[in-house]
Amino acid sequence: MHEQDTEGVKIGLEVHCQLTSLATKLFCSSPSDYRGKPPNTNICPVCIGTPGSLPVLNRKAVTHAAMIALALNFKIPERMLFFRKNYFYPDMAKNFQITQYDRAGGVPFATDGHITLDSGKRIRIGRMQLEEDPAKLSYDGTIESSTQTFVDYNRAGITLVEIVTDPDFESPREAREFLNKLSSILEHLSVSDLNLEGSVRCDANISMAGGRRVEVKNISSFKEVERALNFEITRQRSLTSKGIKVMQETRHWDEIRRITISLRLKEEEQDYRYFPEADLVPVTLTKQFVQDVKKGMPEMPEERAKRFQKDYHLSGETAQILVREKALADFFEEAAKHSKDARQLGSWLAVDLQAYLNEYGKSLEELKLTPKHFAEMANMVSSGEVSRGAAKTAFVEMLKTGRMPRSISEEKGLKVISDTGFVESLIDKIFSENPQAVQDALKDPKAVNFLLGQIMRATKGRVDPAVANRLVRERLAAAKGSK
Ligand code: MN
Repeated sequence: MHEQDTEGVKIGLEVHCQLTSLATKLFCSSPSDYRGKPPNTNICPVCIGTPGSLPVLNRKAVTHAAMIALALNFKIPERMLFFRKNYFYPDMAKNFQITQYDRAGGVPFATDGHITLDSGKRIRIGRMQLEEDPAKLSYDGTIESSTQTFVDYNRAGITLVEIVTDPDFESPREAREFLNKLSSILEHLSVSDLNLEGSVRCDANISMAGGRRVEVKNISSFKEVERALNFEITRQRSLTSKGIKVMQETRHWDEIRRITISLRLKEEEQDYRYFPEADLVPVTLTKQFVQDVKKGMPEMPEERAKRFQKDYHLSGETAQILVREKALADFFEEAAKHSKDARQLGSWLAVDLQAYLNEYGKSLEELKLTPKHFAEMANMVSSGEVSRGAAKTAFVEMLKTGRMPRSISEEKGLKVISDTGFVESLIDKIFSENPQAVQDALKDPKAVNFLLGQIMRATKGRVDPAVANRLVRERLAAAKGSK
């Protein structure tokens, strides 16, 4: 991606993630699995707020949110309560959303968390709250030109965690790294499947030196965030360069056209008339509860990276790349069971594979390769059977066809040649074709490299370099002796 000048840029993120691991919604027993169902069939009196219906807090939602809070280094207040956020909009039939609030006596689910970037820079996450998802609206045509809006309440009441960072990012790249780390943490916790459509939504606020704060809403995947931010930097910079002031406003990210569109100019904070949700009692999260959640936590990406360095002797950089996605880290560990050289394996997965996936815009799952493919690849190279350079040919062929690397290597004749008889006859040929070079090599040891280069060229780098080196020097020594 095009590198931007990010001088004076300040970015903050607000992320909403659905807890897709839960069987039921946050305050009722309607199923969490709403996707693919006919509109307005996955609902009950509680999630559409008919008179007399009462919410009951989902205990598992609290446990899973606590796991996220601990993984993101948050403090969890002992008392948890919910607030009503009042507004008039068709996506909440009750005309309010049950959420949490950090003012008017309210406390969020957790406060003062952070994620540390690879550079050591700490991104502060001011608060995290638990809240219900609103309904899904759709339009006939585009959001700007539609004359009809459709409301589907199937999603209303699904559990969301909202996490809000401080404006600590100084570039879109830092924001992407943060989101990569966050998604790997959520994957390792198995609380949110980010691949499900609509499971994650992101808003980003961005300001540049001298400009006002612009909020970009409705970014529907982590991958799009960096793109939307890069667009905004370009847009704001071009305004400033023409002497036009950047105004405080809310913009919408149009994924198809890859531009932001102005939604509304914002004069001040909207007043949602927050007040405590009287239908839900305050919940006490005891120290014992938090301790128990902590004990039940699975291994997190940072710990896993450290273990990879220790157990498999990987570099810190390789380990970090492998734990960026849980699926890749799992794949590596499975392959390592079949490999004699985990370092070699790690470099094929973290470097060569990633380069290929980036170039072709593919994912590891799409390639339909097994851990054994990569283990065999690494074993072939570490045993000296194929040179790393020649193995690259087999590697690309393996990714394209799904064939096992050894059979590709055999078919393409990629094996290292260490058969001395063959190398001797090759030396005969090269020496007779290059008499001047042989004369030079007899006088100057450095000139030997030209002859070795010819041997490598004739065999596309397949001759074992140690064997070629030894035999060429022996031959030269013999020639000198017979003079
Ligand atoms: Mn929210």
